[in-house]
Amino acid sequence: MKSIILLAPPAAGKGTQSELICNKYNVPHISTGDLLRTAVRDNHPLAQTISDLINSGALVTDEIVLDLLKERLTKCDCDNGYVLDGFPRNVSQAVTYEEILKEIDKELGIVILLDIDRKLAKKRIVGRLSCQACGSVYNSMFDEHKSKVDGACDNCHSVLTKRDDDNEETFDKRFDAYVEKTKPLIDYYNDKEVLYRIDSGIDKEYTFNEIEKIIKEQND
Ligand SMILES: [Zn+2]
Repeated sequence: MKSIILLAPPAAGKGTQSELICNKYNVPHISTGDLLRTAVRDNHPLAQTISDLINSGALVTDEIVLDLLKERLTKCDCDNGYVLDGFPRNVSQAVTYEEILKEIDKELGIVILLDIDRKLAKKRIVGRLSCQACGSVYNSMFDEHKSKVDGACDNCHSVLTKRDDDNEETFDKRFDAYVEKTKPLIDYYNDKEVLYRIDSGIDKEYTFNEIEKIIKEQND
């Protein structure tokens, strides 16, 4: 399978779709967060540097992330493709990523943008409610995802809670930051003719079906 870079704004279902692709096509899911956590856990030579940066509140440098990524991509489970999630975040990273791919003799593959209307994304996030007791998830902004009794879980009747950062203000900031950073990256991949855009605002089955169509077309 050709490797896939997934780009998506908040609430477009990137996590869910990554998991669906990786399970169905048996390819690894690679995110920079996981790379950093694994490096620290496994006492990688860069572990101390990474811990120090994280503990001081600094961002881990692109150089470190790209070193780890390069190592990860040369493992044999990546031979039949992989899903890259959350990377690259900007054009500069995208360019360096391609240099690495050249060094390890891999192709860029395809880029899938899970697009979603801002208003819909906002409803998905701001309305999100969850049950701490049984893990059920609801959404007060959509009739089909509301709990039967306001604020109580259908399954276990526990009180539903909302995450602190699931508010309009935080959403607006995150979405604006996403648009600002990702727009040039989208243009970059569009110019290279590797970009596919999917409307991810319908439901997860529709989105996955569209992804499968692209994978099939690209790998036939
Ligand atoms: Zn519950």
